[in-house]
Order: sequence, then C-alpha cells, then structure tokens
Amino acid sequence: MDLFEYQARDMFEAHGVPVLRGIVAESPEQAQLAAEQLGTPVVVVKAQVKTGGRGKAGGVKLARSPQEAAEHARAILGSDINGHTVHQVMVTEGADIAVEYYFSLLLDRANRRYLAMCSAQGGVDIETLAKEHPEALAKVPVDPRVGIDDDKAGEILEQAGFAVRDAVVIAPVLKKLWEVYQAEDATLVEVNPLVKTGAGRIIALDGKVSLDENADFRHPQHEALADDTGTDPLEMRAKEKGLNYVKLDGSVGVIGNGAGLVMSTLDVVANAGADLPGAPRPANFLDIGGGASAQVMANGLGIILADPQVKSVFVNVFGGITACNEVANGIVHAMKMLGDVASKPLVVRLDGNAVEVGREILREFAHPLVTVVDTMDAAARKAAELAADTATTDPGQSDTPTAPIPRADAATSQEA
Ligand code: GDP
Ligand code: MN
Repeated sequence: MDLFEYQARDMFEAHGVPVLRGIVAESPEQAQLAAEQLGTPVVVVKAQVKTGGRGKAGGVKLARSPQEAAEHARAILGSDINGHTVHQVMVTEGADIAVEYYFSLLLDRANRRYLAMCSAQGGVDIETLAKEHPEALAKVPVDPRVGIDDDKAGEILEQAGFAVRDAVVIAPVLKKLWEVYQAEDATLVEVNPLVKTGAGRIIALDGKVSLDENADFRHPQHEALADDTGTDPLEMRAKEKGLNYVKLDGSVGVIGNGAGLVMSTLDVVANAGADLPGAPRPANFLDIGGGASAQVMANGLGIILADPQVKSVFVNVFGGITACNEVANGIVHAMKMLGDVASKPLVVRLDGNAVEVGREILREFAHPLVTVVDTMDAAARKAAELAADTATTDPGQSDTPTAPIPRADAATSQEA
C-alpha cells in the first residue's frame, strides 16, 4: 500500500524524522485557514496524489499569503496531476532550501537485502539521475539484521560523496528513516528531496512510503491509512471478507481454490469463449483458498453474483486437503444461504480427493442452476456458452435455464 505524502509526513514525524509542519485541506477556504494557522511568510500548497513529479505538473506551488494559498488550492484541487485527480492538498511551511539531496531505502528481493540509495544531487527525477549520472547515485546494500547504524550511515554518505561536516548532520536522519522502514514494515521509504536549509537544518521535504500489506497483522493502525477512493466496490467487499478477489471486465465469474488453479482457469475460460458470440471472458479472479467452507463459498458466490456483468459462474475446484465432498456441501449450503441471490447458472467442475462423493452430492442436490461438468475444458466451454450473447446461441443453451441443465458428458476423460 502506497501512502499519500501527508501520511508519510505524519509517519516520519512520529519516528523523529525532521519534517515541516503541514495541514491537509479539501477546499480553498481550508487552505487559507491552514496558511493562517502555519503563520509563516511563505507556505507551499501541495497536491496529495500518489504519483511523483507533482512539482513539474503544477501540483506544488509557493504562496506568500493565505489568500494566495487559497488561490493555489482552488487551481490544484480537482485538477489532474499525471492522471490522478486531486481531492486534497497539504499546506506546509515554506522551507528556505539551500541544497536538495536524495535518499531512499527499498527491498532488494533478488539479493535478499535492503538497498539504500543516496545522492548529493536531489530534487530531480531519480531515474534521470541514475541514467545520466550513475556515479552520483550511491547504492549500498543494507543487512536487514543490522539496518542503518552509524557505520552504515557513514558508508552511504561517503559513497554519495558528502563532505564529513554534512555527513555528521545527515547520518542521524538516515538512522531515523531506517527506524521508519523497519518499525512500520515498509518496502519503500523515499525522501526526494532531503534538504539542507539556509540555517543548516536537514529536513525530509517530500516523503514516499510503501507498506508491506503482508505485515498488516502487526500494524492495526495501518488500516486507517487505506484509501478506498477509486477501489472497485466489489473488491472492497471481498477484502472485508478476507477473499482474494480481483475484478476483471468479462462475463464469466470464476471461483477456484489455489491461485495457480484460478489463474489457469482464467486462461482456459478466455480460450473456451474465443469463438463464441460476444467472446465471453472471465469476469474476475477469486481464490477461495484451501478450506472452502460453505461460508467462504457463499461469500465468494455472493460477491460474484453481485457483479451485474456476470452471466454465468465457473466453480473450478481441485480437492486436496479439503476434499470434494466438503466443497460440494459448501456449494449446496451456499446456494441455500444465498436463496434468490443465486440467480445465475453455475458450472461446477470437481476433481481430486473424494471427487465421486462430491459429484454425487451435487447430482442429488439437483439445483436447476447448477451443472456438474467433469473436465476443466468442457466446464469452461459450458460456462462460456452460458455467458455468450444469447440471441445468436443455440436455444438449447439458453442462459436463463428454467429446467435442470443436463450434465455434460461424464465419460469425457478427466484431466489431472
Ligand atoms: P514532487 O515534484 O512530487 O516530487 O514534489 P516535491 O514535494 O518534491 O516538490 C517538488 C519541488 O518543489 C522540490 O524539489 C522543491 O524544489 C520545491 N519545493 C517544495 N517545497 C518547497 C519549499 O518549502 N520551499 C521551496 N523553496 N521549494 C519547495
Ligand atoms: Mn519529490
């Protein structure tokens, strides 16, 4: 999860990283009040959007009076900065910048380490600096068990070419930024620019922080940082239920157990529908994981059926530790729990552990909307047919069945 600049600022402050005072505003009036409250001769109005290069795009403006701050806020709020609409600005104290530096700390997966990057030339686009002056960008591996201590800070600053007198004031800030990185379980902490003021103070002027969502359980306070604007409502609902759901733009809902199986199911569905009218494609990714209980199945089906684009659903389960009979019972209970909400045809393919018992449970259930198909390819084809443009399909394959859909050929060979 990426944070807004103001959230990164707050986080830095909480860990003792020197930052400027800043107040978030959602209207020109609020921006004017914020500028009055800050009371500095110069304030800066900054667009709060999760993208870089705001300065160049007109999203960072200096104001010499609260009235001017209001004017800038009026221009920036609602505008588009690199494809992001601005809903909030942060009004900060103006800094008397003498020099701009660059510092970042990130996860270096390939080397199983963290990597610190630092340059005495900051403020500019770091990709450009890395390309045009690679020698000016120090890249120093950081051992996760040691982090940035005095020695490591010295090494980073020396490699970046800092004079000792600057290094001694910057080193403590790097140590604090490491503290942010480690304590908050971040995957990125970037400060561009890290500035030295005319008075010689070091300040993190702009912060970018990405948090590792896998560590959310350790940080209940991170939940409040999530930003739902722009998130698909079904994805939000799925997240609340702890489901791994990604909305796609097709019409065949997909549920499976295991991320690999679901991903290959998406491909198989897209292939199966390619030559059908309207070329139906997968409507979503949904992995219900190992323990596919009735509740989890009902939650998953509930979300998929709430997608108005969905015309049919393909449930593709490979029984492992959770055997097919449990999954079949899950589907039966889920359909009962959902009642009238279960309004679209379901094609179920079960295989693996206890497959025969599972299929038998669904056969006995004999729900008019549930079809059991024994192979993945045939099931994908069936689901795609049910989602195809009906006007041109064979009437025998109408997508609004009133009678039980006949089982597809059970004699078809089973794939692994
Ligand atoms: P970005 O363009 O999205 O990276 O936004 P930044 O917050 O980094 O601001 C861009 C640039 O605006 C900085 O590199 C500074 O040169 C300038 N800037 C930002 N805040 C101040 C300030 O308080 N005083 C002055 N003089 N310049 C500032
Ligand atoms: Mn910046």
